[in-house]
Amino acid sequence: MKVLYIAGWGRSGTTILDNILGGYDAVATAGELYYLWRRGLVQRRRCGCGKPLVDCAFWGGVLAVAYRGKPPAARQTAAVQRQSIRVRDTRRLSRGGFDAAAARYRDEVARLYAALGTVTGAELIVDSSKTPSGAAVLARCHNVEPYLLHMVRDPRAVAHSWTRATAQPDRRVPAQMRRHTTAASTATWVAWNVLVEDLARDSYSGRASRLRYEDFVANPRGTVEGLLGFAGVPATGSPFTGERTVELATNHTVSGNPGRFRTGAIELRPDDGWRSAQPRRRRLVSTALALPLLHRYGYPVQPRVPRPARAAGRRMAVTDVPAAT
Ligand SMILES: [Zn+2]
Repeated sequence: MKVLYIAGWGRSGTTILDNILGGYDAVATAGELYYLWRRGLVQRRRCGCGKPLVDCAFWGGVLAVAYRGKPPAARQTAAVQRQSIRVRDTRRLSRGGFDAAAARYRDEVARLYAALGTVTGAELIVDSSKTPSGAAVLARCHNVEPYLLHMVRDPRAVAHSWTRATAQPDRRVPAQMRRHTTAASTATWVAWNVLVEDLARDSYSGRASRLRYEDFVANPRGTVEGLLGFAGVPATGSPFTGERTVELATNHTVSGNPGRFRTGAIELRPDDGWRSAQPRRRRLVSTALALPLLHRYGYPVQPRVPRPARAAGRRMAVTDVPAAT
């Protein structure tokens, strides 16, 4: 069983990439599997199909196969994640430092991956949990062939996205996604990228790939097909209807960006609104904090910003939900 883990700080296009990959014949996606217990089973948030995850027949089937009718208590598993599978635990986990509870958690996750393969018949399971600690756990799962996709996006664009109010439709009551300040988003961007780079080198040697959001949206179809080749699965049953248009079917993803509920025809286009809408001071804060990594990922210290006369028109085109995030 092959599992492709998508890692990286949020608002980098991981959800839409995950949903597109899930459209291919040989691939099935779980969404952000890390949140199955807390958000899906305890908080009873919605599956990608729109039903509360606890009422979704797909997940009912996966859990039955994984745990043979005796699923571990979701609250307990969520508690283990909070205690031992945090971002700060990533390095310890990648070195094999699992205590008894963390080892049980790792085995629970491995059984879930296997059950996802059995139920869907897919060759490749995608887990877009993003958090580096989840990638460290996957690398240590038995009977799994792990792959890592490190996704990065210009930290100024990411920070701008996190400062905006975004509706989160996966709860029963109206809610908004959590917001982060520019400084907090960029500091986390740096910390997570460093951790994922370490994992790619130490735990996923030869099975890790890095993808920039900007390169993905510039060439969506070619990028996705390249990724399938990297994981060694065929690109049959492509959801692409053009170079940058996809037809997405209903999915059963656990958690993720609200974009996971979108089905039907979707056109992928770069979300460049931040270039004109982000206040200059915030852009400078993000640039200063991310400076050590900007060059590494090919992002200019001074991003291209439209002239003010054009900026006014562009600002009106900014949408609430990024096109490809
Ligand atoms: Zn579902």
